[in-house]
Amino acid sequence: MIETPPGVTLIAVSKQQPEERVAAALAAGQRVFGENRVQEAAQRWAHRREGVELHLIGPLQTNKVRDALALFDVIHTLDRVKLVRAVKAQGPGRARQFFVQVNTGQEPQKGGVAPGDLPDLLKECAGLPVTGLMCIPPVGEPPELHFALLRTLAEVHALPHLSMGMSGDYQAAIALGATHVRLGSAFFGPRPTAARALQASGA
Ligand SMILES: *Cc1c(COP(=O)(O)O)cnc(C)c1O
Repeated sequence: MIETPPGVTLIAVSKQQPEERVAAALAAGQRVFGENRVQEAAQRWAHRREGVELHLIGPLQTNKVRDALALFDVIHTLDRVKLVRAVKAQGPGRARQFFVQVNTGQEPQKGGVAPGDLPDLLKECAGLPVTGLMCIPPVGEPPELHFALLRTLAEVHALPHLSMGMSGDYQAAIALGATHVRLGSAFFGPRPTAARALQASGA
């Protein structure tokens, strides 16, 4: 069992995990889960939504906004004006809390607003319950600089929450002020590859 300090929410990232591991986590009392795809999350969670807090931690397409807002309690990946406008146009639905994702490493293939564009995006978010920032540090770089940058940006904008830290770096993230850590493999065990998952399901 993984322990996090008081004030740090452990999001158990259930994407691609076998059903028996998710059932075991529920039986053990885990109630906060993360998914990175709207469709996959709906299949896993729509029929047992009661008492579970669901976080969307993956990229959100504007054509999935309605489904995402109906399914998730918290969305971590607001990252562009078009998406913010789509969320506002739809109305918050079930979602009651939002994070803005910041591309701290300025990686072209990664979601998130560039740090320099954060002030404008936050203005666009006016009226939405945005309470924090989220980042995914670049692979192969020490994550601490990215966590520290995210914390500074959150302080500048008086946002109390920091969604940072995954299985490989969550201790560093907590040391630098994370309030939400997103743990997949450290919590459930390694995600099976697609082929092994198919075998396991008897397909
Ligand atoms: C998959 C995923 C995680 C969990 O990854 P692990 O390394 O298994 O802990 C965390 N955050 C995001 C955004 C993810 O997509």
